[in-house]
Amino acid sequence: MEKPTVERIGFIGLGIMGRSMAANLIKAGFSLTVWNRTSSRMEPLVRAGAQAARSPREAAEGQDAVITMVTDSPDVEEVLFGPGGVSEGIRPGAVVIDMSTISPEVTRRLAARLAGQGVDMLDAPVTGGDVGAREGTLSIMVGGKPEVFDRCRPLFEAMGRTIVHVGDHGMGQMCKLCNQVVVALNLLAMAEGLAFAARSGVDLEKMLAVVRAGAAGSWAMDNLAPRVLQGDLKPGFMVRLQQKDLRLALEAANQMHLPLAGTSLVHQLLASVEAYGGGDDGTQAIVRALERLGNFRILPEPSSP
Ligand code: NAP
Repeated sequence: MEKPTVERIGFIGLGIMGRSMAANLIKAGFSLTVWNRTSSRMEPLVRAGAQAARSPREAAEGQDAVITMVTDSPDVEEVLFGPGGVSEGIRPGAVVIDMSTISPEVTRRLAARLAGQGVDMLDAPVTGGDVGAREGTLSIMVGGKPEVFDRCRPLFEAMGRTIVHVGDHGMGQMCKLCNQVVVALNLLAMAEGLAFAARSGVDLEKMLAVVRAGAAGSWAMDNLAPRVLQGDLKPGFMVRLQQKDLRLALEAANQMHLPLAGTSLVHQLLASVEAYGGGDDGTQAIVRALERLGNFRILPEPSSP
């Protein structure tokens, strides 16, 4: 018998990433019910055609799938199993798709708990940043049963371009942590390149124009370095969220007795950014830590009033 297709979706968590991902699902023709803790963030989605729910439970009622895009492991746990949570409203046979970046271990526990009520789960964290979320070009790495993944593929295609089933429950999150290790080191590479240019008197714009087109090109060089040159530290991805991810990666590495020297260094530099009050800045604020270490400027001088 044909498995039912996934058409009706509950979407929980309309932050920097979730709001754009939800908007792309509406554009692709899915029927969406949204819920966000800060209710004003639901308004633009309602204007775009979504229904607003009053709780995660209500967002889950009658849906084929419920997507969560919140911050950390305890937050996913709360929207799923807290009072008024998804588990109170979701029907057996439906799917919970967690697209947040959280602990692989917690993911496996949540999947087992949902299975107890006949609900399937996929972990489907993403990469591609705020830009990828807006443009529907995210990379999505999925853990869970292959047949459930196949059923949900059209929904992933509305939000992303590269979609890969990597293994069983938790393996999507493990793959995302590999991604975060690479992202962290590319971030530092970008910042040290800019530091070297700034200190040596090479024009930053010119250096960026030529270097990003060659072997040193990266997502960080294309998307974050131009923001540094503008003095723009607004978050595409907040320092405190990167720190959460590096903590998860370093904990997992520690359990495997795997040294990750470069990742640890980036974690420490970003701890300095946090110590100076930059936790809500974008990760490009790592240049602040380098500026303080070297006692010079990379960011442009603030223009005088
Ligand atoms: P964000 O802008 O801070 O949004 C977080 C969202 O989660 C908000 O809607 C927030 O609600 C909600 N939330 C947090 N804790 C909650 C709780 N306990 N109960 C209910 N709602 C809760 O963060 P983001 O950048 O969109 O990131 C979301 C997830 O995607 C994170 O796991 C992050 O690591 C991952 N991610 C981010 C990026 C990126 O570039 N930004 C890229 C890939 C993956 P309020 O509106 O009420 O605060």
